[in-house]
Amino acid sequence: MAWSFETEPAFQVELDWISGFVREKVEPLDELLGSQWNIHDPAFVEHVRPLQQQVRERGLWACHLGPHLGGKGYGQLKLALMNEQLGRSRFGPIVFGTQPPDTGNAEILAHYGTDAQKARFLEPLLANDIVSCFAMTEPQGGADPLVFRCTAMPIGDEWLITGEKWFASNARYAAFYIVMAVTDPDAPPYRRMSMFIVPADTPGITILRNYGCHGEPDDDHAHVRFEGVSVPAENMLGGRGDAFVVAQVRLGGGRLHHAMRTLALATRAFDLMCERALSRFTKGERLADKQMVQEKIADSWVELRQFRLLVLETAWLADRSKDWNAVRQNIAAVKAVMPKVLHDISARALQIHGSLGLSTAMPFTDWLNHSYLLGLADGPTEVHKVTVAREALKGFCATDAMFPAAMRDVSVAGR
Ligand SMILES: Cc1cc2nc3c(=O)[nH]c(=O)nc-3n(C[C@H](O)[C@H](O)[C@H](O)COP(=O)(O)OP(=O)(O)OC[C@H]3O[C@@H](n4cnc5c(N)ncnc54)[C@H](O)[C@@H]3O)c2cc1C
Repeated sequence: MAWSFETEPAFQVELDWISGFVREKVEPLDELLGSQWNIHDPAFVEHVRPLQQQVRERGLWACHLGPHLGGKGYGQLKLALMNEQLGRSRFGPIVFGTQPPDTGNAEILAHYGTDAQKARFLEPLLANDIVSCFAMTEPQGGADPLVFRCTAMPIGDEWLITGEKWFASNARYAAFYIVMAVTDPDAPPYRRMSMFIVPADTPGITILRNYGCHGEPDDDHAHVRFEGVSVPAENMLGGRGDAFVVAQVRLGGGRLHHAMRTLALATRAFDLMCERALSRFTKGERLADKQMVQEKIADSWVELRQFRLLVLETAWLADRSKDWNAVRQNIAAVKAVMPKVLHDISARALQIHGSLGLSTAMPFTDWLNHSYLLGLADGPTEVHKVTVAREALKGFCATDAMFPAAMRDVSVAGR
C-alpha cells in the first residue's frame, strides 16, 4: 500500500463539515452543560439530542462501527482525522456517537455478546439511549492487573461477583457495567480473570463515592462495591479466563482516537498562543517579536507536527495490518507521548497569556489537568514506555565482544 499524505477529496468535504459543526454548534455546549454522560438531564435532551440528529442525517453517526452495525466502516486513518475535529469539544464524541467508554464496550459486545445481549445492551448503546461503564481498576492498584481481587464465583447457573472497583467512570449514569473479575485464582497470571456484563440495577451494587478530577464539571469516577452481585452464566463475555484477550479488543482504536482528540486540544492551545503573541505588546513590540516567545511557538509547532505524524502513521499501519497486536509499539508510543504534548503546549500558551492564562476565564489549567488524566487513565505513561522499549529491543541482539563493533580504531582516528 502506498504512503500518501492526501485526504480523499470526498472525505475532506465531510471533515470540513465536521469542523464547522463542532466549532459553531458543539463547542458552546462545553460551557453550558455538566457531564457529557448525563444523557437523561433535561438540558442534555434539549441541547444535545437535536445535534445528534443532524449528525445522523449527515450520515456521520458512530462512524467507528462496521456497516453491519450501522456505521460507515471507516478505517483508522479516517477515524483519526475525524477525531482531530471532534476532540476540540468535550461533547464532540457523544454528539457523533463515538464516546468512550461506550465505543470500547460496544466493540466487546459486538464481538462476544449473544443475540439477546446485543438486542438488550448493544443496540440501545449504539443509539445512545443508554450509556455504559468499564470497571476494571481496583482501589489497591490499577497499573498492575495481577493485584486485582474482585471475584466471580460460579453458583449453579449464576456467577456471584464480590469486590470493589475504582475510578469506574460514568458508573452513576450507566445502564450496565462490563466488569473484570477473578474466576480462577490459581490459573497462570493472565488466565485468572473473566469479563461479565452486569446490569446496573442488579441488587448488591453500591456506589461508595464519586470522585471528580480538576477541570471536569462533575464527579464522574466511582468507587463501586459489589456484594454478592448475581448474574446469569451467559453474561460472561468471551471464555472463562479470557478477560485480558477481551480487554484488548477495546484498547487499540480507543487509544488512537484519544490521541487525535488530544491533538485537537493541543492545537487549540497553539492557536490561542499565536493569537495572543500577535496581539499583546510589551516594551514597544509584540510578544510575537520576542525570541523567547518565538521559541515557544516553534517548539509547539514542531511537537504538534511530530505527534500528528506519529498518530497518523499508527492509524495507517493499523489499517494495513488489521491487527492491533502488530502495531502495539506504535500505540504504546502514542499513548506515552500524548500527555506531554498537551501538557507542554498548554503550559506555554498559559505563560504567554500571563495572569489571564492562569485564570479560570481561560481553558489552559483545564487542559493541563487533562494532560495528567491522559497520563493515568488506561494505564500510566511509564507502563506504555516499557512496552515501547521492550518492542524496540526485540530488534537487537547483545554482542559477545568487549567493545561495540562500531568503536573507532584509535590508531586510525588519531592519524
Ligand atoms: C480520569 C480517569 C478515568 C478512569 N476511568 C477508568 C474506568 O472507567 N475504568 C477503570 O477500570 N479504570 C479507570 N481509571 C483508572 C486507571 O486505569 C488507573 O488510574 C491507572 O491504571 C493507574 O492505576 P492507579 O491509579 O491505581 O495507579 P497505580 O497503579 O497506583 O500507579 C501509580 C503510579 O505508579 C507508577 N507506576 C505504576 N506502575 C509502574 C511501572 N510498571 N513502572 C514505573 N512506574 C509505575 C506510575 O507513576 C503511576 O502513575 C481511570 C483513571 C483516571 C485518572
